[in-house]
Amino acid sequence: MAFSTVAKFGGTSVKTANAIRQIGDILDSNNSIKIIVVSAVGGVTNLLVDFCKAPKLMRVALSQKILDIHLDLAAQLNLAFANQIEEAMLRLNAVADFSTPEKIDFVLSLGEDLSSLIVHAYLASQGLDVVHTDIRQFIITDDHFGKACVDLLATKRLMEQFPQKVCVTQGFVGCTSDGRTTTLGRGGSDYSAALLAECLDANELLIYTDVPGVYTMDPRTVPSAHLIPELSFQEMAEMANFGAKILHPATLEPCVRAGIPVRILSTFEPKKPGTIVRVTQHQNNTPTIRAITMRQGQVLVTIKSSKMLHAYGFLSTIFNILARHKIIVDLITTSEVSVALTIDSFSVGSHAANPFITNQALLDELIEFAEVTIEEDLTLLAIVGTGLTVPGIIQKTLGVIEPYTIRLVCFGASNSSISILVHKDDAKAMVNILHEQLLEGSANSFPINYVETKKLSASL
Ligand code: ADP
Ligand code: ASP
Ligand code: MG
Repeated sequence: MAFSTVAKFGGTSVKTANAIRQIGDILDSNNSIKIIVVSAVGGVTNLLVDFCKAPKLMRVALSQKILDIHLDLAAQLNLAFANQIEEAMLRLNAVADFSTPEKIDFVLSLGEDLSSLIVHAYLASQGLDVVHTDIRQFIITDDHFGKACVDLLATKRLMEQFPQKVCVTQGFVGCTSDGRTTTLGRGGSDYSAALLAECLDANELLIYTDVPGVYTMDPRTVPSAHLIPELSFQEMAEMANFGAKILHPATLEPCVRAGIPVRILSTFEPKKPGTIVRVTQHQNNTPTIRAITMRQGQVLVTIKSSKMLHAYGFLSTIFNILARHKIIVDLITTSEVSVALTIDSFSVGSHAANPFITNQALLDELIEFAEVTIEEDLTLLAIVGTGLTVPGIIQKTLGVIEPYTIRLVCFGASNSSISILVHKDDAKAMVNILHEQLLEGSANSFPINYVETKKLSASL
């Protein structure tokens, strides 16, 4: 199905009957949309997580709550649908043991199963010729439950059989080659939609959400943030990696590989142009600050050993241990006798908590030769842009936040970000003052000047 468009609708876009009706209107006004990828109804994945963690007695109330959310939606949309929803809930209640990430993935996938069935039933009730497709038949992953890795070759091969009709399917969910349900990490429906866009050679990926595009900072935290009409893949990737929740960080990889532009739009104000993310290039490569991001739940781990002094191989010893335990490291700084690194408190997939607290085997391996200190309750702020290594930008950034304690700064590895680790209680005030001083009024004196370049000429 060449030149089709893939559209993804997030949790708030399927949360109410009115939102689902909006999806119908959007499809009516854009008949190039062939694939509709949906998230679970807003809040339902969190309820399913709670369900897995809850003591047995509380599970009944939680599953009733989840059932009611979907029954209400179906009733408001006049869908005769109760049987299918109740059947799905029976599957949930039949799970007796929630101790493995595999079981948790199975439970979480019910959120997208139910929302996609409701959206499909609604669209069909409006006369649209649309099929529901279970994405487990197409997206094949490894068995890293909670944050599974996609087998692109197998997925591409199966996608050749994808229905040649308008189709509604689940985001976030995948399947191992032997038929076990996996999930792609929290917020992963964006990534699912990007994979489908790549495999189907779509002409555009539309991400419909609850804000009319990408802003200079999350508008919930900085109300004066303004919309960015256009971003390069590189800039959007930096923003997503550094915590801009608007897009899952993995989303851009398939789009860059296939040269597919991404447009971020509001389901509730679909006529607004949104933000277009595509292969672009700065004219003159002028230094520009484009946005500020904030990522909560950061852990700073300091590994200190006098054996590091003038020794070789020390860093590789540490990183081999971390790799063996599948720890994803974000920032790193070193001094003469210590290494400080940051991790997400949920870095080992979406179901596991800070591994430096929960994984005794990992700690034992490190404390054999080093002292390990762990600091929690930290937030990572990042200034994202282009050409940020030119004189003045780091100085101005640090000057603005002079009164605050900074735990770590990373700058220089690329010219597109400056990252700063701070205490979580200071973060909100700091992003507001940084935004005011770097991105408002005439503060950002470097004009942005883009030209679109040919497909495939960019890499992240
Ligand atoms: P969905 O359920 O549609 O995937 P998300 O909640 O995952 O929606 O992402 C949308 C939210 O991302 C917005 O409501 C907003 O609060 C947040 N957000 C974070 N950073 C930004 C940003 N730079 N621009 C716009 N929204 C942002
Ligand atoms: N429903 C999943 C989550 O809440 C995936 C998504 O919304 O993208 O994380
Ligand atoms: Mg999202």
